[in-house]
Amino acid sequence: GKGIAVFTSGGDSQGMNAAVRAVVRMGIYLGCKVYFIREGYQGMVDGGDNIVEANWSSVSCIIHKGGTIIGSARCKDFRERAGRLKAAKNLVDNGITNLVVIGGDGSLTGADLFRQEWSSLLDELLKNNQITTEQREKYKSLQIAGLVGSIDNDFCGTDMTIGTDSALHRIIEAIDAIVSTAYSHQRTFIMEVMGRHCGYLALVAALTSEADFAFVPESPAPENWPKKLCAKLEQERNSGQRLNIIIVSEGAIDRNGDPITAEQVKKVVVDNLHQDTRITVLGHVQRGGNPSAFDRILGCRMGAEAVMALMEADENTEPCVISLDGNQAVRVPLMECVKQTKAVAQAMADKQWEKAVSLRGKS
Ligand code: ATP
Repeated sequence: GKGIAVFTSGGDSQGMNAAVRAVVRMGIYLGCKVYFIREGYQGMVDGGDNIVEANWSSVSCIIHKGGTIIGSARCKDFRERAGRLKAAKNLVDNGITNLVVIGGDGSLTGADLFRQEWSSLLDELLKNNQITTEQREKYKSLQIAGLVGSIDNDFCGTDMTIGTDSALHRIIEAIDAIVSTAYSHQRTFIMEVMGRHCGYLALVAALTSEADFAFVPESPAPENWPKKLCAKLEQERNSGQRLNIIIVSEGAIDRNGDPITAEQVKKVVVDNLHQDTRITVLGHVQRGGNPSAFDRILGCRMGAEAVMALMEADENTEPCVISLDGNQAVRVPLMECVKQTKAVAQAMADKQWEKAVSLRGKS
């Protein structure tokens, strides 16, 4: 059977373990040898104990755990060809020519580059007498399937990334908890949520928690936002509401592209309305805790489909990302999605917000 390795790279997210589990079990079920690579690309470069064969029970009791049990890392070495050469040697040594990479667009870009270089990396290893001619022939092509793990839902090509739903659960729980104390003391709370370039978490959290106001990067606040904000808060209080909730995405900006921080928002509320106002920054709590049922199933389906894609792939198959399209797990071209995701980030950086939204919406 084929040699498949699974690894998690970049920021962790809830549901990655479900995906790892599905890759291992589907791989074994189909007669493959499945390996964990620990600590992302760093483990691939370092080799040794970082690459271990998985068995059916090594993924027992992990589906309910947040984060990733095989570790994740950011790895400078893999950005250099010398690092990728070491990684290639470690894969050949273990008989691995299929990779399931679970990460964000950076991790997927690295995987695609590695695949493009694979043949020349093997030539170099052969020239250095680090592999044999038989190995050069046997392991001549590398296949890749990507899964997107990210709480931000910031990847083009899939309706939901693994971890977003769980992060929303965490945010909603926190807001619900804040609402009860805010109600008692007639306070205004400003909640900062994650999402560097993508306001999905802030927007959905605001809609589902009846927040009064939300700041998201894709819809930069107009110059008169302080006036609009205060008018809205006052209107709510005047109609009998005892509290206000404002959601600020960490990537929130104004029309000049300058950041809008929770502190700034607080100052506006306090200076103009003299409301008792507090800030809660949710931070890494959003990444923590157990994955939701949705993320567990998403991870399972994506992981199983990734193995199926690798089973059917040969050297002429373009690398794919397994994505969710409506309620279907589908395969989409990896580099097209990465390109589109980068185009969105570029449009945001160029302050072309409508373009960014339409680019994101199309995929
Ligand atoms: P997140 O969205 O959580 O930041 P990510 O996968 O985008 O996840 P990155 O830090 O961009 O996170 O990438 C993770 C790792 O992937 C890097 O540390 C590096 O080892 C590898 N990588 C990223 N981009 C490249 C690249 N262009 N070439 C080679 N390797 C890369």
